[in-house]
Amino acid sequence: MSETSARNLPVVEGAAFTGTHVPLIERYRERLPFAPGDPLVSLQEGSTPLLRAPLISEMVGARVRLKLEGANPTGSFKDRGMTCAVSAAVRDGARAVICASTGNTAASAAAYAARAGITCAVIVPEGKIAQGKLAQTLIHGARVIALQGNFDQALTLVRELTDTHPIVLVNSVNEFRIEGQKTAAFEIQEALEGELDALCIPVGNAGNITSYWRGFTEVGMAPRMFGFQAEGAMPLVLGHPVEHPETVASAIRIGNPVRWEDAMAAARDSRGSIRMVTDSEILAAFRLLASKEGMFCEPASAASVAGLLKYGAEGAEQVVCVLTGRGLKDPETAIAHNDGRVIPCPVELEAIEEAVLGDGS
Ligand SMILES: *Cc1c(COP(=O)(O)O)cnc(C)c1O
Repeated sequence: MSETSARNLPVVEGAAFTGTHVPLIERYRERLPFAPGDPLVSLQEGSTPLLRAPLISEMVGARVRLKLEGANPTGSFKDRGMTCAVSAAVRDGARAVICASTGNTAASAAAYAARAGITCAVIVPEGKIAQGKLAQTLIHGARVIALQGNFDQALTLVRELTDTHPIVLVNSVNEFRIEGQKTAAFEIQEALEGELDALCIPVGNAGNITSYWRGFTEVGMAPRMFGFQAEGAMPLVLGHPVEHPETVASAIRIGNPVRWEDAMAAARDSRGSIRMVTDSEILAAFRLLASKEGMFCEPASAASVAGLLKYGAEGAEQVVCVLTGRGLKDPETAIAHNDGRVIPCPVELEAIEEAVLGDGS
């Protein structure tokens, strides 16, 4: 292995870990492009829960489970791909990584680069990234550039930049990202012993639906892939790029997905589809998940459940909805869109009594 600039090369000994709590690359090494002894940059990602959703199951007449990708170290599925992309970058001697991001790729890249001791730059659409994601990216020490444009423009520019500079691009054009993310399908296969009829998943840049389909294919499964885009950002539904994508679900506010062909192939080959949900359907599912299933996810994640509720299970008995990211990422949206309110109260027992037990008027 060549000398690298990485501060620490955390070569992980598999034997030091037990059970499923191992770095993702250790757990699935035989199916990933890494050899024993390769440096691994890991935050112990993956091995996320698969939670039953009793109410949603009843609503759609199927056994519905939620794949809780918000349980990953930085709070989204991006960590599965990032451990692979950054480990490979370090193995190849890279000193810096870069990405365009609606937020979660930035947060994940920043964390893994910090762990590896290499530099990270992120280009985000100005004013369009959720506060939690921005906080993460900054505290991990990445250089944050706010582009006066949208995600698609940011991605075009970083692709040009990495063509002429020795900086590794860690967007989902990076094959290691897709490879890492396919491991979620392996986990579902193990948990359900291969019994799955449909997977519901939000679609933005379309890397994740591509990854799941690849993963399922590799383990001999073929659930129907139901991808969902937001009404104001649904290029795959329309069949042409959207110049000014707009949706409350900022993680899927993308008008020209890089994995366009792969996503369409996944939908076609699995007898699934890519369909549309509105922002109000996304927000209704977002509130339902939190208030009735106890699960606070990002608005973009709720698109999977919104789509299932809208179009139904279509005869599927076993369904998994991928909850791609954690709700705390985007506190503004949660505060702006809920049925509750904060009740002000003076320091008096009677007032507290009324506030706690009264009819709320
Ligand atoms: C990145 C992301 C998506 C979209 O995934 P793609 O691979 O871009 O289709 C959905 N939800 C969340 C929370 C994300 O971070």
